[in-house]
Amino acid sequence: MTHSSAPWRPATRAVHTGHSVDPLTGAVAEAIQPSTTFARDADYELIGHDYARTGNPNRESWEACLTALEGGAAALAFASGLAAQAALFQAVLKPGAVVVLPTDMYHGGRRLAREVFGPWDVQTRIADPLDREATAQALVGADLLWIETPSNPTLKIIDIAALAELARANGALAVCDNTLATPLLQSPLHLGCAVVLHASTKYLAGHSDVTGGALMFAETGEVFDRCRTVQHLAGAVPSAFDCWLARRGAMSLSARLAQQSATALSLAQWLAAHPEIARVHYPGLPEHPGHGLAQRQMRGAGGVLSFELADGAEAALGVARRLSLIIRATSFGGAHSTIEHRASIEGPDSPTPKGLLRLSCGLEDAEDLRADLAQALSLS
Ligand SMILES: *Cc1c(COP(=O)(O)O)cnc(C)c1O
Repeated sequence: MTHSSAPWRPATRAVHTGHSVDPLTGAVAEAIQPSTTFARDADYELIGHDYARTGNPNRESWEACLTALEGGAAALAFASGLAAQAALFQAVLKPGAVVVLPTDMYHGGRRLAREVFGPWDVQTRIADPLDREATAQALVGADLLWIETPSNPTLKIIDIAALAELARANGALAVCDNTLATPLLQSPLHLGCAVVLHASTKYLAGHSDVTGGALMFAETGEVFDRCRTVQHLAGAVPSAFDCWLARRGAMSLSARLAQQSATALSLAQWLAAHPEIARVHYPGLPEHPGHGLAQRQMRGAGGVLSFELADGAEAALGVARRLSLIIRATSFGGAHSTIEHRASIEGPDSPTPKGLLRLSCGLEDAEDLRADLAQALSLS
């Protein structure tokens, strides 16, 4: 028996949707089913599943959880966030198609659009999503609008409902990358987007130990059918164990995010008052330009913040070098706090300020994190 999730709030859905107590053993924890093939009965009817690329019990459970978390009609799980983006592009774009991308976008996603889909004659236009007029112009004749908010790494807040409406008016598909906010803090499908993307590698799975991605859909129409066909036929699917890990991690999303958000707010406030820091980017601070919109559009400001050292790249790298608890590593949303000098890994054409460090607050005690930052900053 798998529960229906209709009456539940998101934290409960994260634990129970797609979950069932095993009828044979009474096991409460979900089993991992590694079988690639599934038997038919004597009449040659399928007993359950068919073949693991098409579907398996762990992916079914994970996709049910994803659908319920995002409040959509359906979800499809993929082997990574970028595999999910690639599947969506393969499903909905034809040669000659135009996609409008925001100035601040996950840089791998922008490279995927340009370097992989460019040769298939998909055109990319970059528009500042805070500039309604520029976005409206870019949308003329466009097929897809990419929304990413809070943006990475400067945490700009983009008006999802306004941009989704603009996309709809131009006949373009509105897609929102909801990785940074998570489904608990923001619901783009309820604000007019047709598709939501997640890198479940980050907060959903939450422990820096499984790569994964997902697409969630407002309705089960043509776009969903095409994406499901690409999932089945192009086959960038997660393994049963990947799905099991992600499903297991998502159970604690609500508790993790509550602590990570509280830590981020306290560190953002402390950094904003620190003499070595020129700017703090965190939508939970009243002085953040998107604070008001974030309060309307989000249910919390999340666990990621970034800050700028007045003295540029060298000062930022010096702080990163002196940290002893916070780990120098890319990615975010895990149990370990991580810090990243984005300009270094984005390369020479990176628009990111050279003195900027992005901090993903993990599950350590906030005081220990503050002390680590304090000692690293005191020598700068
Ligand atoms: C990490 C990330 C992705 C890509 O996910 P992968 O699992 O690394 O492929 C996409 N969007 C955002 C916002 C991300 O942070």
